[in-house]
Amino acid sequence: MKIWRPYTQEGNAMPALEVAQARGAHLDLADGRRIFDGISSWWLVTHGHGTAEIQQAVATQSRKFAQTVFANFTHEPARELCSELERVLPVSLTRCYFSDNGSTAVEVALKMAYQFCAQTGKGRRRKILAFERSYHGDTCGAMSVSQRGAFTENYSGMLFEIVRCKQGLSINDPLASWVDDFDRQMQVHGEDICAVIVEPLLQGAGGMIVWPKAAVRRICEEAKRRGILVIFDEVMTGFGRTGSLFAFEQIGCTPDLLCLSKGLTGGVLPMGLTVVSDQVFQGFYAEEPDKMLFHGHSFTGNALSCAAAVANLKLWRQNDVRVRLGEIERAQVTALERAPAGLAIRERRSCGTVGIVDFDLPGDYGGWFSRRVYKDCLNGGVFIRTLGSTVYLMPPYCATPGEIQEAWAVIFAVIENLPSQHSRG
Ligand SMILES: *Cc1c(COP(=O)(O)O)cnc(C)c1O
Repeated sequence: MKIWRPYTQEGNAMPALEVAQARGAHLDLADGRRIFDGISSWWLVTHGHGTAEIQQAVATQSRKFAQTVFANFTHEPARELCSELERVLPVSLTRCYFSDNGSTAVEVALKMAYQFCAQTGKGRRRKILAFERSYHGDTCGAMSVSQRGAFTENYSGMLFEIVRCKQGLSINDPLASWVDDFDRQMQVHGEDICAVIVEPLLQGAGGMIVWPKAAVRRICEEAKRRGILVIFDEVMTGFGRTGSLFAFEQIGCTPDLLCLSKGLTGGVLPMGLTVVSDQVFQGFYAEEPDKMLFHGHSFTGNALSCAAAVANLKLWRQNDVRVRLGEIERAQVTALERAPAGLAIRERRSCGTVGIVDFDLPGDYGGWFSRRVYKDCLNGGVFIRTLGSTVYLMPPYCATPGEIQEAWAVIFAVIENLPSQHSRG
């Protein structure tokens, strides 16, 4: 039996790197190399690898039990998680639905919104509005609302139709370019839409695109004014990435449904949450069984994951995590300012702990660029993955400003030393 790797064309893939141990911001490979985890192991790890408090909480819970039925049972780690969330979320969000990952957190939100409208006299509202360049996961519902492209092309027949909305590209573009198409779509489809789904502040997989806060606020307020539910997919932006615990804190608008995963357990164990307003919950609250939410996963409410999430939220409460975020934010800005002159940079930007550079690449340079930059950066001790011609650094929060400067120095040197397009290989 061999491993079938995710997002990997095994026919021409580079050999897999074997991790022996991970500590703080570094991965120790079995061959003795030590590399800087520049993408927090795909946006998961928040405080760092091997956070003692989270490990301890998981170990303690594992001595009691790991998993039980969650439909007619409950347990302390789940209840404690709800109390911890209550401390950090707006009072309007009152119910927490448990699942296993980011895609399921989104899938649940979509099913909830759709069924909510059917059960509350808004049966005409059958459509979801989602944005260009969005990424919401790999299950069928999540793919349907994600940007259609290479990731979804092979499955197009399995996906449902949505209302797709264009938005700006650069934070420097005028506000109108971010909201004009939304307003247009609202004119045409406003009465038929049950929910709007958005990655607030920072669109991740679509190219690390930073939204103007005013645009997200406007979209959120306008949707609510029209009786449309607002879903914030904070699977990536949640738990500090954008500089605050949640991105919506900076926007000044509370969603009706909030999707959380990735950093929820500090990136240690799989867990997804869909946290909703009382209004949404009340749409399902009845005596008729057919009005319940028909959804659930075997690992719903896993007690080890709950314990990890509780320990994570306690760290946010007890430690100076926000101070560390500020330091990383400043280190990113400084490092980007110091990019060598002469690189073909189209735009550099940062959003909280994430530093981002778009490069101008000629023609079909894209795939080759990604592969080459990945390989050369690894040789320089830095693990990153590019998004086309966009390079970003999203380190765990234990990374020091010095490590961030160094990582960017490696990246810039790699790009400066790329062979010209004629001699690529
Ligand atoms: C990663 C991601 C998802 C999917 O999460 P998985 O746990 O990989 O299924 C959904 N939405 C956003 C914004 C993400 O970044």
